[in-house]
Amino acid sequence: MDKVNILGVNVDMVNIGEAADMILDFFDGEGLHSVFTPNSEIIMAAYRDSAFCDVLNRSDLLTADGIGVVYASKILKKPIKERAAGYDIACRVLERINGSAHKLFLFGGKPGAAEKAAENLLKTYPKLNIAGMRNGYFKKDEEEEIVAQINASDADIIFVCLGAPKQEMWIDKYREKLNAKVAMGIGGSLDVFAGTAERAPDFFCNHGLEWLYRLYKEPQRIGRMMDLPKFAVTVFFKGKKFKQSE
Ligand code: UDP
Repeated sequence: MDKVNILGVNVDMVNIGEAADMILDFFDGEGLHSVFTPNSEIIMAAYRDSAFCDVLNRSDLLTADGIGVVYASKILKKPIKERAAGYDIACRVLERINGSAHKLFLFGGKPGAAEKAAENLLKTYPKLNIAGMRNGYFKKDEEEEIVAQINASDADIIFVCLGAPKQEMWIDKYREKLNAKVAMGIGGSLDVFAGTAERAPDFFCNHGLEWLYRLYKEPQRIGRMMDLPKFAVTVFFKGKKFKQSE
């Protein structure tokens, strides 16, 4: 699979359909496969923190969640065709496993969010096999118990929605202990499934302006969003120093 090295993070050059195909193949593989969907903020965090960068690069699939990452790939002359956001990939996978034996575990969000998400998901995918759920607020000493709960549910795929970088670190930490085949770190998607957060309207998504809509809805994100211009400038001036695979 072709990858583009964006400030040290090796992003897979896949679209939504190709990412979903890979995830379906992971069900037949050995061990847990991790799927992360970095946006510009996450890549900037990895650029600053080499341990986090290693966690991302150890994953089995890294897709470009955000138009900033797609533009960066173009600047680096290895263009990713389209944005492959975690939410869209998750929906594509759910369509494909609806009615199959594959079981889903929803992990994350505030108390009650996973239950609400499960209720809504069953309206859209009535034959979905939801094996269990757990909110995303826990103490360190509860983590082993959560792993045991997920394993006891016999889930094949886990949506881990703790926000970045917590979800990526958590999946990486427990990848040897989890019996599922796939763990996807898909942050705020759970709240979209629960109906407590909205996706940006198509106009904003199609014009690369989802960040603007999010800023309007959640102005407290302004600090984190300052990473967007920093990301663009860093890719422009330093991006070519990172070696691309042939
Ligand atoms: N979240 C959680 N545990 C935590 C922190 C956050 O379950 O310790 C949940 C939060 O309730 C929300 C989701 O993680 O449902 C995503 O949070 P955020 O929007 O900050 O992350 P992003 O999607 O922007 O990475």
